[in-house]
Amino acid sequence: MTKISRHHFSHPEPSQKRLRLLPVFLPFAGCPSRCVFCDQHAQTGLGGLRLEDALDALHERLSLESGPFGLGFFGGTFTGLDLAWQERFLELAARFAGPGGLVHLRVSTRPDRVDLQSLGRLREHGVSMIELGVQTFSSPVLEASGRGYDGAVAERACAMVREAGLELGIQLLPGLPGHDAALWREDVRRTLALGPDVVRIYPCVVVRGTGLADMYLRGEYAPWSLETAVNESGRALLDFWKAGVRVIRLGLAGEPGLLERLLAGPWHPAFGNMARSLALRLFLEERLAGRTGRVTKIFLPLRLGGELWGHGRVNAEALARLGIVRENVNFWSEPDIALELEEQ
Ligand code: SF4
Repeated sequence: MTKISRHHFSHPEPSQKRLRLLPVFLPFAGCPSRCVFCDQHAQTGLGGLRLEDALDALHERLSLESGPFGLGFFGGTFTGLDLAWQERFLELAARFAGPGGLVHLRVSTRPDRVDLQSLGRLREHGVSMIELGVQTFSSPVLEASGRGYDGAVAERACAMVREAGLELGIQLLPGLPGHDAALWREDVRRTLALGPDVVRIYPCVVVRGTGLADMYLRGEYAPWSLETAVNESGRALLDFWKAGVRVIRLGLAGEPGLLERLLAGPWHPAFGNMARSLALRLFLEERLAGRTGRVTKIFLPLRLGGELWGHGRVNAEALARLGIVRENVNFWSEPDIALELEEQ
């Protein structure tokens, strides 16, 4: 006799906060040196920006905002700025704070430019999250990239953010010189152990004019292939989702300045979608592992319509092995995934 069983489960991605985040880019502001891979001018689309001008522009922008909204200082080392400048930016932001205005403030900085005192001061000024540009916890890779700190400093900095009562963001950069898939998986494990609120993953690309471009042209550095970057990011994404960590960025944004100067590396306009598709496929494989019945129907939330099959239908073959084929796939307005299995 045939038996039909139904199974419901949620997609593992933690719900994203709906708050609009206004980014303020301060390219290279407060950075002790230029890291080999980094070109904030290309990444942000902003050339040399004077802090006075950035402050004026921020004032003008905040005056036009209606809330609630969040604000983040990115593109440099916020806590490397003179204290007076940090305070000018934070005090300006504080003037717009309130339930109908600025409700969330974050800054990004380097792991070796924070201590409990500076974090406490940021908190007093209304900062709620610190995003640390950790890049990797591997000390040899950090050294080969000239970052100037080691893995222990990066871990300690993450712990200090927590100790200071702040939310923690960790930015990771897989594919730096000497970094491989095994070290990356170790980075993911160490990141998970630190319990961040959010993670950003920026696979390393080679931008003309950087130290990394010189290394690449001399044959001393080879970036990860797109395939490796997608595979490793997709696997990590599923691990982060399952731990309740929100991954708020996958790959660099396609700023025209970046694309013009991109020399090599795993950049793709659909990178995020490719990694998410892989994470979804891996998740379905996990959920279906060990089940004996034949899939007769699967219902997925509409928002997964662009992710199930993958870029260029790359998931189709693996999904077919699970019994998931075009004919039995349905997209619905429910938030859950439902599976109908036929057992003989
Ligand atoms: S990676 Fe961070 S610290 Fe290094 S130059 Fe870029 S913004 Fe500055």
